[in-house]
Amino acid sequence: MKQPLWLFMIAVIAAAGLLPLCIARAADKSETSKPNFVVIFCDDLGYGDLGCFGHPTIKTPRLDQMAIEGQRWTQFYSAAPVCTPSRAALLTGRLPLRSGMCSDRRRVLFPNSKGGLPASEVTIAEMLREAGYATACVGKWHLGHHEEFLPTNHGFDSYFGIPYSNDMDRAKSAPKGRTSIFQPQSEYFEVPILRDLEEIERPAHQTTLTLRYTQQATKFISEQPKDKPFFLYLAHSMPHVPLFRSPDFENQSLRGLYGDVIEEIDWSVGQILDSLENAGVAENTLVVFTSDNGPWTSQLDHGGSAGLLHEGKGTTWEGGMREPTLMWWPETIQPGTVADLGSTMDLLATFAALSGAQKPSGRTLDSFDLSGPITGQGPSPREHIFYYRGYQLMAVRHREYKVHYQQQGSYGTEPKKRTKCEPPKLYHLEIDPSERYNIAAENPEVIAEIDALVVTHRSSLKPAPSQLEH
Ligand code: MG
Repeated sequence: MKQPLWLFMIAVIAAAGLLPLCIARAADKSETSKPNFVVIFCDDLGYGDLGCFGHPTIKTPRLDQMAIEGQRWTQFYSAAPVCTPSRAALLTGRLPLRSGMCSDRRRVLFPNSKGGLPASEVTIAEMLREAGYATACVGKWHLGHHEEFLPTNHGFDSYFGIPYSNDMDRAKSAPKGRTSIFQPQSEYFEVPILRDLEEIERPAHQTTLTLRYTQQATKFISEQPKDKPFFLYLAHSMPHVPLFRSPDFENQSLRGLYGDVIEEIDWSVGQILDSLENAGVAENTLVVFTSDNGPWTSQLDHGGSAGLLHEGKGTTWEGGMREPTLMWWPETIQPGTVADLGSTMDLLATFAALSGAQKPSGRTLDSFDLSGPITGQGPSPREHIFYYRGYQLMAVRHREYKVHYQQQGSYGTEPKKRTKCEPPKLYHLEIDPSERYNIAAENPEVIAEIDALVVTHRSSLKPAPSQLEH
């Protein structure tokens, strides 16, 4: 049937007039309309360690409130089950093996490592700085402690924090074995604090790390001019062992020392949100709270809990990589619980979409734009999660299903060596998030579909040489 002329005219006007106008608006977002971004990244926080994710005794009132006002993501993943690769992936929007920030031999960077995040990688900070943002990094870096790799050489205007994990650089005088972890003192770990490129304290006084990170972060927020957008990356050193908290939080939590540490982080989140309100920028700021990997369960009660998920840090079971994630953006976010798939790698594409920044070109990105689910405009475009341990593809999630091709325990747990699953194991993660019921035999077509996905994934993959083995 022929369309009436008036309908045709409307279509022409829309195509000729309004559409280019809309596109132009999206492209030249004025500096003041660009949202600020704050990423609060914990270290080794478990899926079950927050009140709003079901912990029975750790009190997290500010995070719980953030969850009510914002979004609680229940199927959000880090890109790796240990620190260095996970952090590299968040900041670059790429799987760690594309940048060489992983290894099958040394799982993270150490104080004697020579490598780090290559200069050829483009971080979220570099991308946003190009789009007019002020950028600050506070906290644990762990992407290379030599000068060329430090935050101020990777797009951040300023840096305050420790360059690697707080259990490294063990002092010769420290007690042997695990006593220095389970009865921690700052002087057992000769970890430095850097300001930009300069060492300003060694050993770091770890009891006040969370407190001082918070002060640096809120100072940065309060000092920003109204007409310049900002990106703050606050990577807490806690609750990675050895556990420390400032005097106000000593012996407060029913969960003991670990609970004290989480309750101080909760206070810190409250300080950040309050400082955004006080600066009058809360309604123009997206805050993301998540963690680099799951709980370090072999640290006994000094490690966290993955709740109903299996295993923890170091493994590619859900407990190793599914993170308790919250997003907050007053007046813009669609509040509620989000069960869509998301990854820390998606922050790069999401921030690009929301700010009008140009995503890095000339490389493969593993980053999906989550602005649809954040603003209630549509579902997450992400359909799969690749679970890597170093360079080894261990498991793949496609929508609700997860196939394990290989398995390995975390730190001394079974199986001790990397073991092929022959045949592969299949779990329906929406019905069985604890990965208890292997349904491979009944669903060969699902495994075949995921096998095909792996073939496509591998055909595009060019792993870079490891930076962690130098
Ligand atoms: Mg970690």
